[in-house]
Amino acid sequence: MKSNNLNSVIALGTGTSTGIPMIGCNCQVCCSEDSRDQRLRTSLYITTKSGKRILVDTTPDLRTQFLNNKITDIDFVIMTHDHADHLHGIDDLRPITFGPPRKEIPIYCNPKTYQSIENRFSYIFQSNLPVIGGGIPRLKLHRLDLNKEIIIEGEVFTFFNYPHGHGETMGFIHQGLAYIVDCMELSDEVIIFLKNKKIQLLILDCLQRGQHSTHLTVERAFDYIQKIKPELTGLIHMGHDLYHQELARLSEQKFGKKVFPMYDQLKLFY
Ligand SMILES: [Zn+2]
Ligand SMILES: [Zn+2]
Repeated sequence: MKSNNLNSVIALGTGTSTGIPMIGCNCQVCCSEDSRDQRLRTSLYITTKSGKRILVDTTPDLRTQFLNNKITDIDFVIMTHDHADHLHGIDDLRPITFGPPRKEIPIYCNPKTYQSIENRFSYIFQSNLPVIGGGIPRLKLHRLDLNKEIIIEGEVFTFFNYPHGHGETMGFIHQGLAYIVDCMELSDEVIIFLKNKKIQLLILDCLQRGQHSTHLTVERAFDYIQKIKPELTGLIHMGHDLYHQELARLSEQKFGKKVFPMYDQLKLFY
């Protein structure tokens, strides 16, 4: 495995749960000719300095995302939460397990997501039948301890939960990167924790303007950025309320070049 000076992260998708364009929608963002307004479901692909390849979430667009970015292998998966737009492409990990050599992919998540994945995909995780034909993806679920540094395959992470809808999403810090997607709000405790970490690159939920009951809006995301003070912030998980260009303009007005909307296949370093 080769070693590089920096970790890299590629946005495999930057859109909300429907993807943009949304099926059947004729709004101006869905019909936009700016390719940055076409957004697959939100997911990240990290390559670490030591050569580990980490997938964050398995969206229903996973196959397209791997083909678009020529991704042919991963070492492990981090699953932020169990919502369909982040999880339901899990079966498309199958070709990665084919090898050669044939392998099993570890999936790391919080205890509640563990339970949910195991139940929802019982054919993968609870089957006693012998694997025949094309079979099932060889995956192994692992529960994570939250709120403390832990090491996965030599990489140091801190995972933490925050509220989202009826449940919680798990964010994480890996070296200079903090990832916070699908977030209703952050507690003061988490904000102070992140501020003290002196984050280089924050990738932050930003669904739409105005109000929303389960996601960060532009206004709230901007408020958190002011408090956390990362060097750079990429906004992600946008809906069809937001043109790329318009969100870029709003961000630049307030923060200069330090805050920007992400778009599919954007690669950043930290
Ligand atoms: Zn989502
Ligand atoms: Zn639309």
